[in-house]
Amino acid sequence: MGDVVVIGAGVTGIQAALDLANHGILVHLVEREPSIGGHMAQLDKTFPTNDCSMCILSPKMMEVYRHPRIQIHTCADVTGIEGEVGNFTVKVRKSPRFIDEGLCNGCGDCIQICPVEVYNRFDAGVGTRKAIYKPHQQVVPDIVIKDPDHCIECGLCYDVCSRDAIKKEDTETEIELRASSVIITTGYRVFDATKKEQYHYLAFPDVVTSLEFERMMNASGPTGGKIRRLSNGETPKSIVFIQCVGSRDTQIDRPYCSGVCCMAAIKNAMLIREKYPDTDVSILYMDIRAYGKGYEEYYERAKSAGVHFLRGMPGEIIGNKKAMTIRVEDTETGEIKIIRPELVILSVGMEPSPGTGVIAEKFGIPVEPTGFFKSLHDATDTVATLKPGIYIAGTSTAPRDIPDCVAHGGAAAMRAFQDAIREGSE
Ligand SMILES: Cc1cc2nc3c(=O)[nH]c(=O)nc-3n(C[C@H](O)[C@H](O)[C@H](O)COP(=O)(O)OP(=O)(O)OC[C@H]3O[C@@H](n4cnc5c(N)ncnc54)[C@H](O)[C@@H]3O)c2cc1C
Ligand code: SF4
Ligand code: SF4
Repeated sequence: MGDVVVIGAGVTGIQAALDLANHGILVHLVEREPSIGGHMAQLDKTFPTNDCSMCILSPKMMEVYRHPRIQIHTCADVTGIEGEVGNFTVKVRKSPRFIDEGLCNGCGDCIQICPVEVYNRFDAGVGTRKAIYKPHQQVVPDIVIKDPDHCIECGLCYDVCSRDAIKKEDTETEIELRASSVIITTGYRVFDATKKEQYHYLAFPDVVTSLEFERMMNASGPTGGKIRRLSNGETPKSIVFIQCVGSRDTQIDRPYCSGVCCMAAIKNAMLIREKYPDTDVSILYMDIRAYGKGYEEYYERAKSAGVHFLRGMPGEIIGNKKAMTIRVEDTETGEIKIIRPELVILSVGMEPSPGTGVIAEKFGIPVEPTGFFKSLHDATDTVATLKPGIYIAGTSTAPRDIPDCVAHGGAAAMRAFQDAIREGSE
């Protein structure tokens, strides 16, 4: 039987890898970040069940780690591919981690002692990390990474590490993987909200993105789950969500709906009302898209929980770093409403992960005008591509929620499985 390479270890890639490995196929799971998990590891709760995101994902991450038929390659990127279905050679470049992966036991002593503190990309702007670090507490594999751009070579971590696991020098390495087929699950990134200048993201501290808010709500995140105004550290008494920031907007070339933002806003609005019943929460929207199983009922629950839904999109946020005003027409009544929120959450849309175009070129597969990978057929075959043996799944193909990603990852795995057993029988 042939092996399969899965590129991208978010929930989609993890599901595909597990399904294949549980059917006897050896899987190489290639992830460019230091840990597997993708965006789902950043979320607090997940709609529509309000399960804790990591409580669902973490056991799957551990299953991948322990699985005898899955080899994880972190800090790794694909640089090239040759061959055809049944017989691909995939070139993978591994960036230096400056850690001996076989020696580090993840004890964290080096993190404690490191004096350098920098912005943590995993916390999406809200938290910090050290120069030697784990992006979050539940990383898989459970080892650290040293960031040479911020390390001041003070030497403290080398002294404290009892296992001599930290390397002063490290270099890029290249490996070649043989595979009967490849599944690409490289996911998404969120829209850069600074492109909507009228909302003053990064200029006004109390304007945050929905992903930053997920980190703020997370009990193991940088604020310990407490909602705080970044301007003064106080609990906001009035919170406004603005929907479709970077979605359904032809002026900025984002004509498509990002699918998950309505439900994510409803989820977080409800969670705010549970945690802070005295905080007023409004969602400003064009249309609420609650299309999945149980989603309409979820929306109704939010209304019962006292979340205000106002159909209308504000032109801008007026004010300064301390006080903000939103003027918006309620398009259902024609009334002009004035709101003075203490925290604004921009529900940012999804766009293709950086590097999607480069991968498409290397693999010889097309992308949509939106930049997401193009499926062979949008109605009847959403995981195959024009190239036999190269499959795509999850949010690398279009905005999708987690239930969809899991199903899609499984569907791609089944197709790769067929190639793998065909290879074995020939
Ligand atoms: C604010 C917000 C809240 C959300 N809340 C919910 C919710 O409550 N419920 C729900 O169902 N959905 C929710 N979603 C959607 C959810 O995040 C996605 O459906 C899901 O995480 C997508 O998983 P994925 O594996 O397709 O992509 P990702 O999670 O993006 O994973 C892709 C992985 O591929 C890696 N990668 C990218 N390029 C390469 C490369 N070239 N080489 C190697 N690796 C690469 C990335 O590092 C990443 O680990 C939310 C989304 C947002 C923005
Ligand atoms: S590098 Fe050493 S000190 Fe740091 S986590 Fe690994 S084993 Fe512990
Ligand atoms: S050598 Fe670098 S990583 Fe290690 S403790 Fe000093 S600053 Fe931190």
